[in-house]
Amino acid sequence: MNNKSFVIGVDLGGTNLRAAGVDDSGKILVSRSAPVGDKSSSAVVAAIAGSVSEIANDIGSKPVAVGCGVPGIVDAENGVVHASPNFPAWSEEKLRDAVCSKVGVPVAMENDANCFALAEAMLGAGRGHRNVVMLTLGTGIGGGLVFDGKVFHGDSGFAGEVGHIVVEPDGEPCGCGGRGCLERYAASHAFAVHARRLPNAENASLLAAAGVDASAITPELAARLADEGNESAAVLWNEFGRYLGIGIATLVNILGVFTFVIGGGITKSWDRFISAAKAAALSHTYARHAAYLKLLRAGLGDNAGVIGAAIEARRLI
Ligand SMILES: [Zn+2]
Repeated sequence: MNNKSFVIGVDLGGTNLRAAGVDDSGKILVSRSAPVGDKSSSAVVAAIAGSVSEIANDIGSKPVAVGCGVPGIVDAENGVVHASPNFPAWSEEKLRDAVCSKVGVPVAMENDANCFALAEAMLGAGRGHRNVVMLTLGTGIGGGLVFDGKVFHGDSGFAGEVGHIVVEPDGEPCGCGGRGCLERYAASHAFAVHARRLPNAENASLLAAAGVDASAITPELAARLADEGNESAAVLWNEFGRYLGIGIATLVNILGVFTFVIGGGITKSWDRFISAAKAAALSHTYARHAAYLKLLRAGLGDNAGVIGAAIEARRLI
């Protein structure tokens, strides 16, 4: 095995960081994870450098470059983290240069959701498609726009905030300060929202079956209830899919992109919501798009972060 030109991709999270040595075909050679205890930027830089050094030892040579996927508002061009929900004390952290001075090779930095998107677009479910939009459905919705193989950053530097597409102008308040954002209707907290909006009779039957109040309905519970034949739970999944599709239609209409890769834990319940999503997306776009629109399930799982960071690293050499 020729590992001479391997790079290291780092996926930084709020509690753990993962790092992997990745060869020039995108294959993971070695992978390690480490807890992120001290959240100061100097401690995080030291943890990243430590993981890079361990992987270099495992493989027996130095990487040619390192890529870091970081949660938060990231200026990829200048390697600066403006702010991060996972690292609240950070402000205008020049993380890339700090990592670079420790590891001694070129370092790329990118928002973590963009890394997922890049990996899925180039080597995962979106492989072979020219333009790909990725949506990662979690407690919020992470997004990434990959056009012609490159992450699109826009003028702001952090384009792709697809979770904050407005789908209900007077709707649920959102963490961004707005109302009615897509991530309130098509991410994990959405089930409680949809449960509250059910007609009373349906709501009552759902709650009786669940034995919990509407605000406690999780995707897992909604999936179990749907498995048990609870029709109201199926309605919740349908609503979840419908709103996802409305958000996707907006993206199709603005960007003219037809390939959407959808990831996140909720995709375990893919068959429960994807038909409603596709139907809603098509009903809000031109009819002729039906032949082209592709809603694809992400394929790289937890590896997408390190692989995307590695793709960015390889572009430096
Ligand atoms: Zn919002």
